[in-house]
Amino acid sequence: MDHQQRQHRLALELRKLRLGGMLVTHLPNVRYLCGFTGSNGVLAVAVSPRGLKLAFFTDGRYTAQAAEQVSTARVVIAKGPAVLEAAVWLAKHATHGPVAFESEKLSVAAFNTVKKTAGGSWKPLSQSVEQLRMLKEPQEVAQLRAAVLLASSVFEPVVRDIKPGITESAIAAQLEYLCRRMGAEGMSFDTLVSSGERSALPHGVASQRAVAPRGFIILDYGVILGGYCSDMTRTVHVGKAGKEARNMYNAVLQAQLRGIEAVRAGVLASDVDRAARTSLQREGLAKYFTHSTGHGVGLEIHEPPGLRQAKAGNTAAAVKPERLEAGMVITIEPGVYIPGTGGVRIEDMVLVTQTGCEVLTPTPKQLIEI
Ligand code: ZN
Ligand code: ZN
Repeated sequence: MDHQQRQHRLALELRKLRLGGMLVTHLPNVRYLCGFTGSNGVLAVAVSPRGLKLAFFTDGRYTAQAAEQVSTARVVIAKGPAVLEAAVWLAKHATHGPVAFESEKLSVAAFNTVKKTAGGSWKPLSQSVEQLRMLKEPQEVAQLRAAVLLASSVFEPVVRDIKPGITESAIAAQLEYLCRRMGAEGMSFDTLVSSGERSALPHGVASQRAVAPRGFIILDYGVILGGYCSDMTRTVHVGKAGKEARNMYNAVLQAQLRGIEAVRAGVLASDVDRAARTSLQREGLAKYFTHSTGHGVGLEIHEPPGLRQAKAGNTAAAVKPERLEAGMVITIEPGVYIPGTGGVRIEDMVLVTQTGCEVLTPTPKQLIEI
């Protein structure tokens, strides 16, 4: 990964905003900008019209790791809290304007201490590094592809072992075990396995419930590989699916395909949401689609852009409509959840291209009856 190039892109943004520097505390952003993967690290970035100066602060546990991973910033082993030493360094070196901090990631208490300790002028900044991270570099796409393939490869063996009576948590455990055996560093989020009427919970974390002889099971999971997350959902049916269940499944599948078709560089993220939502509307199921159509994926499981409805009440999207660009990696995951009955969700990861998109998730989507 070319950290220096990323740092220069950030410096460009900071200069544009007439800022003198930035205190980067959000770990995925720290990793993105300088390569550090540990659990305590703060990056201080000072910009001037001529140049760029960086210092990375961590604690004694990471002396060796920081020396190995961080070659594009001066490494400082802090004696006290890394964030405070970074702030003091910035007060001294960022002299060409106020210093930005990540207002969504730094607690009020931490910020107050920073301000008191370092003094100077501070400015809240939202999603600046996240904006850079939206466009994936070829190496990042390769890493995401590998994560997607690993997760997909365990789907079939896991489904083969599902039978009535097995608990949701046993299914999740087997799934996670196989992922780890295949080399996953971890799961990108708590594995969701929801069966029967629990499948009507859009965020159904695996429970002790035993799988009933008949009904849907939603499996939503992802792995972390090389720091990058994957995310996929498939819904299977235990027993033979009745007409209603089959219709519901097909409606979600159609909506998912319409969503994928709508993806292309230049379109609004909200247009992709609309394509999926309109498709469900035609089946009279849009009122059961209670979340957004998708999200960006990368070093974090949920990143910008958000593929959500552009309408009143959705102020974030209303202020700044997000447009898809070639190189973004996003999920397309419409779902239908009927309380008391059950739910269906189908989710793929796709790479946005100039002319459309490439579906990264290879797992088939026709209805599996167990
Ligand atoms: Zn998911
Ligand atoms: Zn997702």
